[in-house]
Amino acid sequence: MLYESTRGKTEPVTSAQAIKMGIAPDGGLFVPDKPGQITKERMLKMAGAPYPQLAQAILELFLTDFSTPEITSCVTSAYNKDKFDAPAIAPVTKLGPGLFILELWHGPTCAFKDFALQILPHLFTRAVVKTGGTEKIAILVATSGDTGKAALEGFKDVPGTKTIVFYPAQGVSEVQKHQMITQEGGNVHVVAVRGNFDQAQQGVKEIFGNVNLTEEVRRCGYYFSSANSINWGRLLPQIIYYFFAYLDLLAKGELMAGEEINFVVPTGNFGNILAAFYARQIGLPVHRLILAANKNNVLTDFIRTGVYDRNRAFFKTLSPSMDILVSSNLERLLFACTGRDSEKITAWMEELEVKGRYRVDPAAYAKISELFWSDYADDIKTMLVIRDTYRNYGYLVDTHTAVGKYVLDCYLQITGDHHKTVITSTASPFKFNQSVVQAIWGKAATRQKSEFALLEFLSQKTGLPIPPGLKDLNAKPVRHTLTINPEGISWTVRKILCQS
Ligand SMILES: *Cc1c(COP(=O)(O)O)cnc(C)c1O
Repeated sequence: MLYESTRGKTEPVTSAQAIKMGIAPDGGLFVPDKPGQITKERMLKMAGAPYPQLAQAILELFLTDFSTPEITSCVTSAYNKDKFDAPAIAPVTKLGPGLFILELWHGPTCAFKDFALQILPHLFTRAVVKTGGTEKIAILVATSGDTGKAALEGFKDVPGTKTIVFYPAQGVSEVQKHQMITQEGGNVHVVAVRGNFDQAQQGVKEIFGNVNLTEEVRRCGYYFSSANSINWGRLLPQIIYYFFAYLDLLAKGELMAGEEINFVVPTGNFGNILAAFYARQIGLPVHRLILAANKNNVLTDFIRTGVYDRNRAFFKTLSPSMDILVSSNLERLLFACTGRDSEKITAWMEELEVKGRYRVDPAAYAKISELFWSDYADDIKTMLVIRDTYRNYGYLVDTHTAVGKYVLDCYLQITGDHHKTVITSTASPFKFNQSVVQAIWGKAATRQKSEFALLEFLSQKTGLPIPPGLKDLNAKPVRHTLTINPEGISWTVRKILCQS
């Protein structure tokens, strides 16, 4: 199987090349040309299979230029009990009749991004060797919180890599900041930027387009790559847990073989829900994909109208990892829904660049609206859902997952759909403890308490353990103190890569 660019101006490449390159030279995203299939018979045989075994089967389907032992080694390094604090890796919890939660936050950083970023470094380093490269990879990350820490944990002490994370000095939570500045590992750097996330992101983007710096850094033995979800190597591992949830429910007798189910996905950059779309493409019985957005509801509007319009105000919300107005991965969905029409995609993406909006054609829109459904929750609704889910089910959800639960309730009310449904829970409630405590115990309970004190409070009130990745965080020594202005990003990158 080869990977082609959604813009159609790049020769197809192997999966190793696609992962190493990250983005196609024509500006498009790599997609598999002829994805294989997991048949119903094969699924029945895999019902209840352990996570690593399932991961192996799915990865082999897409990484056809990797050998079986190569994939096994990547899988066992990523999905094991030292990294994940739940034996199932991605446990499925029953909330009520036909309603399930897929907990994707048992990894080292307590958000779903660990599923991709724990394995990506291993796929990366193998991809470099397979394509005959000798340089080391320099992973540059601008983060608003979750991705940075997940990348640091994934890439720490991975030979042949160096990771530099830039975060907005005032733009992340106390817990998120401490997670990053206490990071261990000899090959990772964390830098605070005096500015907002967009300035950090802009600075990093400029480096990817800086030919002189790229050349200079190559002479020091490095080439730049990205750990965000434009990279196929980050999307692919996310397909696995959709199958895992289904096969787990099949093994528990909650589903009949072949029975179609719905997934609810709290969405920002359209990466997680796109993985569900690919899972369906290769044979997972999916009825509807329910896209849950927060007040930055550009995707809800798109799914309702077929018009993508980023010309709108940006809101900071209680679900910050979904605060995004340009969902880059949507390009891959459009490619699939236009029958792989790269000329159309190129034209729409140019319109997006120039006018900030585009409208897809009726045929593509028909396909999208048949499968996807969407609504959004503002902060007030998000808080009410956290409270009610705890009261009614005794179950704690974080702010992002609460958005998903709210949108599902809207969907059920409007459609009366009876299919069984899985909500993907994208972060631990402990990670967004301030909102969770306030939603359930009121504002007074959070007064004068740091986020670290609130971890203890939440644990005492609920009897749930503080996740290992957040425990004793404020007692860990601070290892990264560098703070720079946004203009200093490229200088800092050069200094780190070429003078140490
Ligand atoms: C990244 C993230 C999301 C959004 O996922 P996308 O793949 O960008 O759509 C949702 N919730 C949490 C907690 C996240 O970290």
